[in-house]
Amino acid sequence: MIFSGSYLLIIFISKQKRIQIGKLGLIKFGSGYYCYVGSALKGKLINRVKRHLAPPSLKKIHWHIDYLLTSFDISIIKSILITSLIREECIIAQTIKKLSKDEVLGFGSSDCNCNSHLFYFGDKEPFN
Ligand SMILES: [Zn+2]
Repeated sequence: MIFSGSYLLIIFISKQKRIQIGKLGLIKFGSGYYCYVGSALKGKLINRVKRHLAPPSLKKIHWHIDYLLTSFDISIIKSILITSLIREECIIAQTIKKLSKDEVLGFGSSDCNCNSHLFYFGDKEPFN
C-alpha cells in the first residue's frame, strides 16, 4: 500500500548525553522519552518510517533525526502513522508541544517556522 502523511517516533534515551546534530551543533539530551514529528508525502510514508527503524549502520545521515538515531543508548519505542494527503506535520507538532515538557530548539524544523519537531516528555512515555 502507498501512503502519505505524518508520523511520530517515540524515542527513549537511556542516559543523558551530548550528541552532535549536524549544523545545529552539540546538543545535550536528558534521559527519558522524546517524541519526533515528521512527514513524508508522495507515497513515501511507509518507506520513511522503515528507514528510521532500520539499523544505524544502514543509514545515510541526512536529517537531524538521523544524527540522533545513529547514536548509542537511543531506541525507538513506537512509531505512529497518521495518513494524510497534505503536509500536517507542523500542526501536529504544535499539538505535541502543548503536551510535552520541553522542546529541542531547532531540531527537525530547518525548513518550517516551528521552534522544533522534537519534544521532551521526561520519564512519562507519551501515547502509551
Ligand atoms: Zn514545523
